[in-house]
Amino acid sequence: MQMKTFFLCFILLAQLTFGQTIQQCRQRFDTYLNFNRSLNNVVKFESEAIYIFNLQGKKEFAFYADEIVALAHFFENSTYKQQESFIKQKGVKHLSKKILDSLLAINNTRKISATHNKLPLQGIRIAIDAGHFGTDLREAEAEKKYLYFAKANGDTVKLFESVLTFNTALILKKMLEEQGAEIFLTRAQNNYTSFNCTFTDWLEKHKQRTLDSMKAAGKMPPEKYNKLKKANARAMYLDFFKDHDLINRAKLINQFNPHATVIIHYNVDEKNVDWIKTTPKNFTMAFIGGGFTSNQFDKSETKINFIRLLLTNQLERSENISASTVSAFHKNLNIPVAEKTSASYLNKSCVATKSAGVFCRNLALCRKINSVLVYGESLYQDNENEAEQLMKNDVNLYGIQTNARVVSVAKSYYEAIMETVKK
Ligand SMILES: [Zn+2]
Repeated sequence: MQMKTFFLCFILLAQLTFGQTIQQCRQRFDTYLNFNRSLNNVVKFESEAIYIFNLQGKKEFAFYADEIVALAHFFENSTYKQQESFIKQKGVKHLSKKILDSLLAINNTRKISATHNKLPLQGIRIAIDAGHFGTDLREAEAEKKYLYFAKANGDTVKLFESVLTFNTALILKKMLEEQGAEIFLTRAQNNYTSFNCTFTDWLEKHKQRTLDSMKAAGKMPPEKYNKLKKANARAMYLDFFKDHDLINRAKLINQFNPHATVIIHYNVDEKNVDWIKTTPKNFTMAFIGGGFTSNQFDKSETKINFIRLLLTNQLERSENISASTVSAFHKNLNIPVAEKTSASYLNKSCVATKSAGVFCRNLALCRKINSVLVYGESLYQDNENEAEQLMKNDVNLYGIQTNARVVSVAKSYYEAIMETVKK
């Protein structure tokens, strides 16, 4: 084979493997990334390159047609820090063949080695993030992720989302481990944050040191530092800890370098505000990354995360696993699939994908995690039937005391992962 033919074959093969051309990136941009055409003046597609403009209207980055496959491979197999320094240096420069070859030669960190008689998930790493942390009224009050009220018939509803998500995560972990997967959980106990301690412990033992080091590193203005030093638990959570914990969850997951990530949440009816009664509504849905707006581009990290999602095919793969998850939720839990009109946040801040119940939403975890992911919102906890079922503690699976709904939710994530692996 002549060198030129060989090279063409290689490019074709690489494009099939990574599925990356300017046209495909453009389609991805239209389908997932460009919320309400907000990025039309910031990202431009020409036949020879994709351009990203800065706030002054100058070209800040260019990705040329012959670079996209190599850049996609680089983004999939590098840390955020590596991406940041590489992309800033690159700017609008056209990379040489030598540099492109060196990017393509980077180890595929998610390569699965074939072994005989292996279990279906052998060699596959899956990260599971069980949402929230509060498991008693005092701690849950800070993040307000609990339901506690008397129903009209006098029965009490008391549910902590952190307990539901954590039990789901533990069961899912066992199911996936039985099939050979290696699992990482972002939280070690149902009342733990991602810092391996409770929120109360964090406030007592880590708050001061964390604030001091951020101030010293110039990452926190003195006014904010002074305000946070005096803040009560709720204000501390809202103004600092919520993001701090999410950033840490994403960091831990990226360090684990998973093939896929499952983020577990239980939803509520947004119109049932104060959540002191049940609702007849119930919908199932899942989120993936995307849905960016131009004002988010003033943060350079957001822009670099956007570039990763634009150049790699992670969003298509996240849509696939999320579509399977929503369809399993619908089948196993018998809950209607959410449409864009089912909740105002779906309409106001999400891009609907072609898959029923799967929406692009620019949540911190959907953006920062460098892997295929599903962010599941299986059901509404405050639904009149769900609240009753979720209060039960009558099922024991793998030594975990819970109820049939939580088991069905875990089973749905499991089925979606198995279906995705078979494809
Ligand atoms: Zn949640």
